[in-house]
Amino acid sequence: MIALSLAEIAGLLGGTLHLVGDDTADTLVDGTVDTDSRLIAPGGIFVAKPGEETDGHRFVGAAVANGAALALVEHVVDEPVSQIVVADVVDALAVLAEAVVARVRAAGNLRIVGVTGSNGKTTTKNFLLRILSDEGETVAPIASFNNEVGAPLTMLRVTEQTRYLVCEFGASAPGEIARLAGLVHPDVSIVLMVGLAHAGGFGGIEETARAKAELVTATRDGGTVVLNLDDPRVFAMRALAEERGLQVRGFGQGAAADVRAEDIAVSATGTSCLIVDADGQRLPLRLQVLGAHHINNALAAIAAVSVLGVSTQDAISRLETVEIAERWRMQPMGGDRVRIINDAYNASPDSMAAALRTLAQIVEPGQRTVAVLGAMSELGENAGEEHDRIGLLAVRLNIQRIVVVGADARRLFLAAIGEGSWDGEAVFFPTSDEAFAYLQTELREGDRVLVKSSNSAGLRHLGDRLGESF
Ligand code: ATP
Ligand code: MG
Repeated sequence: MIALSLAEIAGLLGGTLHLVGDDTADTLVDGTVDTDSRLIAPGGIFVAKPGEETDGHRFVGAAVANGAALALVEHVVDEPVSQIVVADVVDALAVLAEAVVARVRAAGNLRIVGVTGSNGKTTTKNFLLRILSDEGETVAPIASFNNEVGAPLTMLRVTEQTRYLVCEFGASAPGEIARLAGLVHPDVSIVLMVGLAHAGGFGGIEETARAKAELVTATRDGGTVVLNLDDPRVFAMRALAEERGLQVRGFGQGAAADVRAEDIAVSATGTSCLIVDADGQRLPLRLQVLGAHHINNALAAIAAVSVLGVSTQDAISRLETVEIAERWRMQPMGGDRVRIINDAYNASPDSMAAALRTLAQIVEPGQRTVAVLGAMSELGENAGEEHDRIGLLAVRLNIQRIVVVGADARRLFLAAIGEGSWDGEAVFFPTSDEAFAYLQTELREGDRVLVKSSNSAGLRHLGDRLGESF
């Protein structure tokens, strides 16, 4: 964090300063802010967050042992560290993040990019990080830090040297993106797509669309929004942006897009297309990342960085060096004999469909497609129907072995076997261990295996085990 005195921080937060040792109100702190005491380094600022399972106040001692210079708490803890007492540490974290970013931005060198969408946020964040890091110091979330704690923690890593801040805004309820994006008011806001991911918390896809549109509303006056014109619900946000006088850059496959992709080709080693930009340049892009859906994320990144002065050619050559979108996102594993694609970090109907389509596209004659699928969570009342749809899609794509794992995914299996005749076969196993035992004997040379489920179904570990076995 930028250097601030204990009194300044307490003042910003309306908190009470509790000093220990040699500390005074003027003592400066500039360490990294974290809620995890294990990640605190000397000089760090520990945030004691009360959680559902445990209470961060119990770990102030551990943070002190790691050298914490300050603890942000809801009540004073008997540990040798200065503390600022606030009513709610999560709210305080947001207030601090807002103030720090505003201060750095006032110096004039910081540009902020916000990303939202039902799928592809982390991938696009990583694409942006790769492109912008070559321009100047870039701060971006670690992994998928995108909620009320992760987003402010990322924002607090901004310093006077930072030129770009990339924020991922996820939402599980209305108002969440407005609140988090409202802390920084991005200069450039990207809306990737509106799908059913996390829809259970919203009530439906139209409510999800309204939540994503909160990022357009939170964009800085005079800023730019980058919209996926192929998604009708994102396209509709154009009106909102124009009402606010924001610039709009569209991406997608249609002719109206400022940055568009033509001739998309998917293979087992990557995805390629021709990028056509606003200047009419036509440049080839060859992503190492698997799946046509990632082309859209690349287009979003290219369109966004063009606003920041990065040429399409530079953006493309940097994107081509990205090896995987992120761990457990379409991550290739296994050897040449049997290839595993572990995409079991999360799953929504759109990302399931995208992954299955990719699997169907990457096989060569003689190779077999195997989809190991677990439940998609957070779908609310749509859950049953969406699992049916994925079962049918897998059959329609002629996936040769559909291996369904876990009771919550059983409808997917039933839908597949109810679909009648296709060349393949579907099997069901209640547990990952049973599925693993089956796959160990079943998989053979030339198989291309997709492993996909929501995080809670835990199939990524099954994917890892398969990756090690073959
Ligand atoms: P989360 O909400 O969990 O943070 P996210 O929006 O950050 O997710 P990623 O982690 O980038 O998304 O990708 C999650 C899954 O969605 C992966 O399986 C990825 O392959 C898939 N995905 C990425 N982009 C798209 C897209 N445009 N359409 C469909 N699926 C996509
Ligand atoms: Mg994410």
